[in-house]
Amino acid sequence: MTQHDSSCGSGKPSAMDALKSIDLAVIGTVAIDAVETPFGKKDKVFGGSAAYFSYAASFFTPVSLVAVVGEDFPDEYRSVLAEHPIDMSHLEVKEGKTFSWQGSYESDMNSAKTLRTDLNVLLDFNPVLKFNDTPSFLFLANVDPVIQMKTIDQLERPKLKFVACDTMNFWISSKKNELLKVLTRIDCLVLNDGEARELTGDFNLIRAARKIQEMGPGIVVIKKGEHGVLLFSGSDFFALPAYPLDSVFDPTGAGDTFAGGMVGYLAQTGDLSFDNLKRAVSYGTMVASFTVEDFGLEALRRIKLSTIESRLADFKKICSF
Ligand code: AMP
Repeated sequence: MTQHDSSCGSGKPSAMDALKSIDLAVIGTVAIDAVETPFGKKDKVFGGSAAYFSYAASFFTPVSLVAVVGEDFPDEYRSVLAEHPIDMSHLEVKEGKTFSWQGSYESDMNSAKTLRTDLNVLLDFNPVLKFNDTPSFLFLANVDPVIQMKTIDQLERPKLKFVACDTMNFWISSKKNELLKVLTRIDCLVLNDGEARELTGDFNLIRAARKIQEMGPGIVVIKKGEHGVLLFSGSDFFALPAYPLDSVFDPTGAGDTFAGGMVGYLAQTGDLSFDNLKRAVSYGTMVASFTVEDFGLEALRRIKLSTIESRLADFKKICSF
């Protein structure tokens, strides 16, 4: 069974209207996670790379979510997405179970230990894009690189202006050749420090970023968890610390919501200059700093764009000298 939901964010345009005006699309996972941190354990947390990304990006601009779920996907999670301008007309429901991931964090809250990955309906996901107009911005959230490639293949440049991509150790080790092909087709790779080292075999992050640029993307963003982020664009370089928090509750989704804040801001402004990339990285940093304050999307559900803006103003004071 395959069906498409035609709903969109509450009080927002219908899906048909949304498809006409949405300029940012994301493909990735929508998941039912199980997460364990030193502060608590929770089963059935709404997660997935594309779910986190779309919720975060849609603080800035409407987003079209391209993903697959199983028949077990709860209506309650769909209602969470509907709180924001997220177009769900490409959220496919397939017979079977939703992708599910189980992870835990021990003393090092910067890296999750994967305990279980059940691909389920993702195994034979074949996205079919039905946009009236090609969006200008595309985010290939963490998912099988074969699916990422099938998505880019359906969109045309030059209307498609900016393609950013994320990945993780699971795909770097199991589908490296496929991932290397994706890298030749994108503008920006967003990944964490461990993944950059694994992908390039270089422990030094500056050299690793340069090696990744040679693989294709002119822009490389390396996330270092609580130690901040590095941005490389051509020969330009920018470094930003993380927002200092005295308690990190659950880091799951920090990377995806960082990317959501960053790419959502870029899509909203339509400006790909280096100065704007720096601002985008700062917005990503702010959004991620809220995500880690609670399980799943809970902390982001409690805030507005104005909350993000006011934390950014505070952050600027901390960073300037
Ligand atoms: P992060 O932002 O890196 O913490 O990403 C967390 C999300 O990634 C979780 O909600 C998971 O459902 C999702 N995830 C975990 N493993 C994979 C995988 N192999 N492919 C795609 N998404 C995944």
